Amino acid sequence: METTWDCTIVGGGAAGLSAALMLGRARRRTLLIDAGEPSNRHAHGVGGLLGHDGRPPAELYALGREQLGRYTSVEVRDGEVVGGERIGDRFTLTLADGSRELTRRVLLATGMDYRPPAVPGVEQLWGTTVFHCPFCHGWEVRERPLGVLDDNPDSGVHRALLLRFWSDDVVLFTNGPSTLDAAARERLWAANVAVDERRVERLVADDAGALAAIAFADGTQAERNGLLVPAPLHQRSALAEQLGATPSPEPGPVAVDPVAVDQMFLTAAPGVFAAGDLSGTMPSVPNAMAAGATAGAMVVQSLMAEQRG
Ligand SMILES: Cc1cc2nc3c(=O)[nH]c(=O)nc-3n(C[C@H](O)[C@H](O)[C@H](O)COP(=O)(O)OP(=O)(O)OC[C@H]3O[C@@H](n4cnc5c(N)ncnc54)[C@H](O)[C@@H]3O)c2cc1C
Repeated sequence: METTWDCTIVGGGAAGLSAALMLGRARRRTLLIDAGEPSNRHAHGVGGLLGHDGRPPAELYALGREQLGRYTSVEVRDGEVVGGERIGDRFTLTLADGSRELTRRVLLATGMDYRPPAVPGVEQLWGTTVFHCPFCHGWEVRERPLGVLDDNPDSGVHRALLLRFWSDDVVLFTNGPSTLDAAARERLWAANVAVDERRVERLVADDAGALAAIAFADGTQAERNGLLVPAPLHQRSALAEQLGATPSPEPGPVAVDPVAVDQMFLTAAPGVFAAGDLSGTMPSVPNAMAAGATAGAMVVQSLMAEQRG
């Protein structure tokens, strides 16, 4: 633990890599530690990222790491941060291998844990033909028979109406008798969305590993080639809390327990910044990149303020 880093970034997905790029370009001594499990790792491609639309996520992150290679003040390390504590105006981070790092600033970019419904088959198809974001993966299944699996009447109706932009054939599966009221059923009917209240047992994949059908508890099936599901986002660890960051008092509709940050991406803990999915940015790769880049620049500003007044 000899080096005092200017900034240690925890997490090397879209937000963390972008932050490291800004810090490297500002010639700050930066350590990026990454456990290598970006949330979109199961997806075939990154949908909606200008200049890289459809590029496999692993390729994008490898390119990011490669570009960081020219900034000698940045070290990228594979590993996991398992603990952190403030010591005066510095922080000590403990890694899973037992090593410890001393740093002036911490930038948390750990992403979030997406939790899709625990229906058998979802895991296998997750990020391809079963997805939580139509902007990310709707294009690839456009004009096919699509479904929404959501037992919440409000969000189910919203998702079904939204998905109609991608296909004329959309069914809302409520996974059992629904509490949809007459007005909601009327809106769905007007948009030509059918409601199916059979109890879902599992998802059926074809030989190519794409969604083929939804199997119900009564032994029947419905042919579908794409399924939109809710997947609330949860913190991946207690690291933010350990470092003194607090949860946002107003979580949005997607993230359950995002970390609160101000416009500078500073958390409630002085010296601890947070960017990307974990701070409640609308979850997407371009948003995480923008947040990471801005947070990186704000860390540089705060180091300058500390050193120069
Ligand atoms: C299945 C799926 C498909 C998606 N598809 C798209 C898409 O097509 N287009 C799009 O724009 N968005 C998509 N998204 C959303 C997008 O992936 C996220 O919004 C974005 O990746 C968030 O970036 P991030 O840097 O905040 O977190 P992540 O990309 O999740 O990266 C966080 C990194 O931090 C690491 N980490 C976590 N904890 C620690 C720790 N304690 N120590 C060290 N490292 C740690 C993780 O292993 C990971 O590598 C998708 C999401 C999912 C789940």
